[in-house]
Amino acid sequence: MASEVFRAACVIGWPVEHSRSPLIHNYWLRHYGIAGEYRREAVPPERFAEFAKGLAARGYVGANVTVPHKEAALALSQADDRAEKVGAANTLWLEGGTLRSTNTDVEGFLDNLDACAPRWDQDLRHAVVLGAGGAARAVIYALLLRGAERIAVVNRTLGRAEALCRRFGAHAYAAHWDERNALLPGAALVVNATTLGMKHEPDLVLDVGRLPSVAVVADLVYVPLVTPLLQAAKGRGLRTADGLGMLLHQAVRGFALWFGRKPEVTAELRKIVEADLVGSLS
Ligand code: NAP
Repeated sequence: MASEVFRAACVIGWPVEHSRSPLIHNYWLRHYGIAGEYRREAVPPERFAEFAKGLAARGYVGANVTVPHKEAALALSQADDRAEKVGAANTLWLEGGTLRSTNTDVEGFLDNLDACAPRWDQDLRHAVVLGAGGAARAVIYALLLRGAERIAVVNRTLGRAEALCRRFGAHAYAAHWDERNALLPGAALVVNATTLGMKHEPDLVLDVGRLPSVAVVADLVYVPLVTPLLQAAKGRGLRTADGLGMLLHQAVRGFALWFGRKPEVTAELRKIVEADLVGSLS
């Protein structure tokens, strides 16, 4: 039965045109017969605080927050443990008049791996994370939740990797960018959390031939859908998890918080977003 209360949510970013979140959430609204709308809101940094604090007055029950507002969103809301630990919030909602926040990249990353590579975390003695930006923080926190024993954080700027390891404690250690291939033989999981491999960016040069045959390769980049890293991993017969899967899974919690129903990530939804991404590449 269709719900009757109209609710609206949005994605706040600067720029925001590229966001696929409206496609995902409006698909679910239609699919579940929920009266509502999900919009884009282009808000510059200097207007973000005022905009986020006025969400309810603008008729919104909540919002996604994207670049460059994720740290600001954390600072002006009552964050859950997840957002605090990651140091960034990507989802806002109103709870009894209080602006709350969380970081759904953590579960997006984990749920996607669970779906693509069941039991990937069974023997997580050594994981290699490439990158030390916001996405890497969510990935490292997620891996710690699943009991990773040692996480190598490999970054072009070593100091950023070191700072991130101090934040997360003894299970994470920083490694030089030049060491990335040497770390692969003992890795159960490799995650690309850099921008390398993205459309208009250089490729990620990584010798996946050095990985054990049971290793899993995850790439957070989703434009293109199949990055050169994923292509090489598939070519070696390794299990992979792509960035689009993470993007779809991270959207689930926001939708449930705003519209009161936990949506499903289906093959049909994936096909719709894939078609949109492929269209944007041509
Ligand atoms: P960010 O904070 O800007 O971090 C970018 C990272 O890429 C840094 O570690 C940076 O290294 C590294 N990098 C950039 N250019 C490089 C180069 N030429 N060589 C080596 N390393 C380089 O970005 P982010 O927010 O963490 O996002 C990272 C990626 O994850 C993006 O592609 C983003 O689209 C993707 N992402 C996907 C999802 C999803 O749902 N699938 C969610 C979040 C993010 P330095 O520290 O040395 O600059």
